[in-house]
Amino acid sequence: MTTNEPRRDPLAFLGEELDDLRTRNLYRPLRVMSSAQGPIVSVDEKRLISLSSNDYLGLTHHPRVRDAALAAVRDFGAGSGAVRTIAGTMSLHEDLERDLAVFKGTQATLTFQSGFSANTGVIPTITGEQDLIVSDELNHASIIDGMRLSKAPRKIYKHADTDHLRSILEEAVEKGRERTGLPYRLILVVTDGVFSMDGDIAPLRGVVEAAESANAAVFVDDAHASGVLGRDGRGSVDHFGLHGRVAIQVGTLSKAVGVLGGYVAGSQDLRDILIQRARPFLFSTSHPPAVAAACREAIRVMQEEPELHERLWANTKRFKAELARLGFDTGRSETPITPVMMGDPETAGRFSQRLIEEGVFAQPVVFPTVAIDKARIRTIVTAAHADAQLDRALEAFATVGREFGLISG
Ligand code: PMP
Repeated sequence: MTTNEPRRDPLAFLGEELDDLRTRNLYRPLRVMSSAQGPIVSVDEKRLISLSSNDYLGLTHHPRVRDAALAAVRDFGAGSGAVRTIAGTMSLHEDLERDLAVFKGTQATLTFQSGFSANTGVIPTITGEQDLIVSDELNHASIIDGMRLSKAPRKIYKHADTDHLRSILEEAVEKGRERTGLPYRLILVVTDGVFSMDGDIAPLRGVVEAAESANAAVFVDDAHASGVLGRDGRGSVDHFGLHGRVAIQVGTLSKAVGVLGGYVAGSQDLRDILIQRARPFLFSTSHPPAVAAACREAIRVMQEEPELHERLWANTKRFKAELARLGFDTGRSETPITPVMMGDPETAGRFSQRLIEEGVFAQPVVFPTVAIDKARIRTIVTAAHADAQLDRALEAFATVGREFGLISG
């Protein structure tokens, strides 16, 4: 079909969507750092105390981790050259996976390019039409996408509500046969170990007990629990003493481990089937040598320098207690992730901007990441923060908090 009308830009709607986001204070500009990650970062030419990274143990810039990356580049080059099943599996990948399995106390592990691709790879691989996925309502976006890629039906339980989970499971066991004439092959209960926006810990013991009563398998995403919970940061399963009772643990190598990647820890069969079937594993190139080697060294540092983990928790407790003493609403956080509740997105954006002027980099989190009226400044303290830096950050929060009428005094 031809027409004399001027050709309109077929992507014009994108500009309209962006305008709409800006009008509703939901547009998030990228802040560019011109320094390494760490407790002090350079943003827009300013040196700021950062409360925004997931670098829990300060390993992004740890000398041993850097040196491992440099040595791997020297010895193995810059890239791995292919997907793992073709020619992209190096001894570095296998060594990392063996060490990770020992660390996690599981038969085997398999690494993915990111925590996100681990979730979107594993969930659709191990579930299908004959299965059921039962998921916490606040699980991470990558779990949601993993479920969307699966043919399995799913049910959502109220956040951290093990009674609700139990009742869904009871009903599922009863009704399982109705759909296909057969019981579910697998019921998979999925939860984050630590919830990334509120910093609360999943009630994993209750989740496991509920799952066991329905002969379901538990899948925990420990992205924010790796390096944070359990002995030397082994994660939520170790924290709750549930070794052997959680079938699948996903973790990230991008937060406390300080580099990049995701992994799945579980049985040898789980690893083997993922190598055969998981699509991000089969169709996307493996980690560069520097990434695999740096991750492996980071796992060693976590075990050989337990003072990092102790310092993370000492900083966390102090920072959280001081924010509460100042009168801020920090929600239900129990971990180094401490949200400071703002309410509407506009206030959160302005508050964050004022913090920058006061020398602190703490980013707002707004809809759709959280509910529209639950905008917040999300803070994360790390083992690398010095007392004086946290004191300075608290002073900035106090100053801006009073200005905004969020706290008195
Ligand atoms: N799961 C959870 C719970 C997360 O918070 C994140 C990262 N925000 C991921 C998975 C994704 O991890 P990665 O950054 O390694 O892709």
